Amino acid sequence: MSAPHMGGEEMEFIKDAFQKNWIAPVGENVNGFERDLSEYIGTKYAGAFTSGTASIHLALILLGVGEGDEVICQSFTFAATANPIRYQRATPVFVDSEAETSNIDPNLLEVAIKDRIKKGKKPKAIIVVHLYGMPAKMNQILQIAGKYDIPVIEDAAEALGSSIGNKKCGSFGKLGILSFNGNKIITTSGGGALLGNNSDLIKKARFFATQARDDAPHYEHSSIGYNYRMSNILAGIGRGQMKVLDLRVERRREVYKKYFSELGKTWLEPTMGFSNNCNDSLTEAVQSFKFIHKSPTGLYFLKEPAGYFSNRWLTTIILNSEQTKGVTRKDIRMAMKKENIEVRPLWKPMHLQPVFKQYPNYTNGISNWLFENGLCLPSGSNMTESDQMRVISTIKNALNIG
Ligand SMILES: *Cc1c(COP(=O)(O)O)cnc(C)c1O
Repeated sequence: MSAPHMGGEEMEFIKDAFQKNWIAPVGENVNGFERDLSEYIGTKYAGAFTSGTASIHLALILLGVGEGDEVICQSFTFAATANPIRYQRATPVFVDSEAETSNIDPNLLEVAIKDRIKKGKKPKAIIVVHLYGMPAKMNQILQIAGKYDIPVIEDAAEALGSSIGNKKCGSFGKLGILSFNGNKIITTSGGGALLGNNSDLIKKARFFATQARDDAPHYEHSSIGYNYRMSNILAGIGRGQMKVLDLRVERRREVYKKYFSELGKTWLEPTMGFSNNCNDSLTEAVQSFKFIHKSPTGLYFLKEPAGYFSNRWLTTIILNSEQTKGVTRKDIRMAMKKENIEVRPLWKPMHLQPVFKQYPNYTNGISNWLFENGLCLPSGSNMTESDQMRVISTIKNALNIG
């Protein structure tokens, strides 16, 4: 669905590392990649680490999250967002999504914060995700987080290049994280970054990421450390990839636009104000989507709210099965499989995952409904136009609208 796409200059940076023999998790490429990232995102600092997951783990450590603490986490996401909460033996508290961006619902977030405080524990942090590249409602989220003085960690793993107004995703929270895993919009084969404006925090992240060595001529340790620093070779790939990032964003958006124009040209238009009923009912959730403009295909796309810019990392479609003449999501998935085309349902919400279902959650049915009715389409920036047309005609055939 999203293959690596090299730009051409990556090898130059790698060769340079070989020539200087900086085959280590330190060197010019690491420093250069961190500089490129902070300049691009617009934060004062960036630290390059082994993965997005490691970067989230470091963020939680820096914010003092420990055993027994509670951390609010967007439920509609990939497990890597939530796992580090458990690395710290803290308790995740999952919050459902709003229907417009499919990210954490600000109203439900406030319901959750108030209820946790009433139950005796103020959450230590809030993890917000920009899923599939679509920015979350950061203005409202930051306002609520500020009101209760809770720091926000922004999981921008899927949203490098996305923005609200002229502010890039990854720069809104107290700390932001990125991923350069093989399937992301740019890749170092594996890697991640932590972003922020507080130099002490980023310095401390680098300290914990290199086994927490105190300042001494010998090896002295007064904290538990990790081996999370990015390799200088991989950072070289990252420096090369940064040169083509804007091109990759442009191409992903073109891929999205092609799907949109070929598959019904209809956006999902949520009813505003639906929230905080705190249950996981699919029938109530479906009422929060007005299918105002009826899609000729029964397929719907997520619209960017005014001022929002999505990198369209993956194009997602939502199927309204009442409008597809009995064709189900599974029918489309099986038709694609037969053509050897990779598609996947949207992320299964964390509050429904066996490993997380015992933790507190505040739900409204939206993420569950999106999971039940959505599909991710192949969206790689190096997918050819004829590949995409093959995907489109397979979907059309499955819908009997060839
Ligand atoms: C990919 C991803 C991560 C984890 O990044 P890794 O670099 O693979 O550890 C975290 N959150 C989200 C939303 C992701 O998509």
